[in-house]
Amino acid sequence: MALQFFNTYSRKLEQFSARKGGDQTIGIYTCGPTIYSRAHIGNFRAYIFEDLLQRHLEARGFNVHRVMNITDVDDKTIRGAREAGVSLSQFTKQFKRAFFEDTDALRIKRANEYPSATDQRYIDKMISMISALISKGLAYQADDKSVYFRIHNFPSYGKLAHIDLTQLQSTGRVKNDDYDKEHIGDFALWKAWDEEDGDVKWNSPWGAGRPGWHIECSAMATALLGDQIDIHCGGVDNIFPHHEAEIAQSEGVTGRKFVRMWLHCAHLLVDGQKMSKSLGNFYTVPDICAKGYTARELRYALIRVHYRTQLNFTWEVMNEARESLGRIDDWLARLHEIAQEENTGHRIERSDFENALDDDLNISAALGFLFETIRETNRAMDAGRLDRAGAASWLSWWNGVDSVLALTGQELQIPSEVLALAKAREQARLAKQWQKSDELRDKLFALGWEVRDTRDGQKIAKRAGA
Ligand code: AMP
Ligand code: ZN
Repeated sequence: MALQFFNTYSRKLEQFSARKGGDQTIGIYTCGPTIYSRAHIGNFRAYIFEDLLQRHLEARGFNVHRVMNITDVDDKTIRGAREAGVSLSQFTKQFKRAFFEDTDALRIKRANEYPSATDQRYIDKMISMISALISKGLAYQADDKSVYFRIHNFPSYGKLAHIDLTQLQSTGRVKNDDYDKEHIGDFALWKAWDEEDGDVKWNSPWGAGRPGWHIECSAMATALLGDQIDIHCGGVDNIFPHHEAEIAQSEGVTGRKFVRMWLHCAHLLVDGQKMSKSLGNFYTVPDICAKGYTARELRYALIRVHYRTQLNFTWEVMNEARESLGRIDDWLARLHEIAQEENTGHRIERSDFENALDDDLNISAALGFLFETIRETNRAMDAGRLDRAGAASWLSWWNGVDSVLALTGQELQIPSEVLALAKAREQARLAKQWQKSDELRDKLFALGWEVRDTRDGQKIAKRAGA
């Protein structure tokens, strides 16, 4: 099956390929966190879906260049810094660090670039885009000195979200001074400075102020990926007004189609409601780990449901993830036992897993094939019908699957204590101190790690069930 995704813009499944005439590089823009607090696992559902998308495209031979913005200035970050009595950058720094810690713990591939909204380079780009919009009659400065986008002069406004402009309500992301605007749906491009902003301000042709949230993404996306982006992602709450506004601003300036394909993930819910900071019904990655679950179990719990299906978060969901991972781990341990050090370099030619993901990332079908394979090969092992070479080939097949799922393997963070023990063991082996080497192996085992000696040297892996 050809690769296809559900494009929010057309509300249809559309075939996806690289741009004609270009190389196989796919530019992906993903809306990132607003760093006024630690991101919750609902946010990470969106980032894990984007990670799955990237990894699958890479498995299919594309070269992905992904950009994720960091929103480090908005009402909430400014308020947080003021309340904490520190500068904006000091305030946001801690949450940026936490965001990367959680990203790594969840084995989400780092994006190629993480531009920050407050970087002068992008502020300049935002100002130049706003100036271009004003000169085209697509923006105006209101009496409150803020600059707004004039949606009535952009006829396709509302097309992404499929909404009727007459139904527009205030979004809450815009300050409450609607009377200054020509239309209730006009959104702020540049927010004039006021006292509450303290020393957070930049100079512009319209006076001191700061950018609106939507223009940040248009400026950073076009600055880093060009006027046209292959895939733009986010959660469904980003569709309106944020992504609708991004289209209006970017296309308003460039006159070119901004995004080839829009992909949005459904929400992570708690008791039927969107997990969100404002409702207070959220968990962070450390909250989940404090309950005794691993970040790997959380990754599995969040990745295993199709991205366009809502997922209700419960502890039962975490227990199921643990159970499924246990089945995978046990299977891998059995294969390793049979394969021992064999590496045939032969991979079983079976592409059901990848083919399922080609169909709009159909993860349920892909995992269905994985567990069917586990059942079949377990049966063969029970009957003594799987030889060393066969087991090694299945392990090699798994490596391909796991380059997308990222549930085991090289990206695993190995604690420094474990690395030190492993290094000592390698040295003991070189010195032919076999007893010492075995003792160190036992120590590593007790810590939940397993070492294997291969022709390429010692390999460390998480012990099955640890
Ligand atoms: P925010 O920091 O609110 O702008 O959100 C960052 C990203 O997380 C956006 O792509 C949102 O659409 C997404 N997001 C926020 N809450 C959830 C949720 N409960 N489930 C899935 N995605 C979410
Ligand atoms: Zn955005």
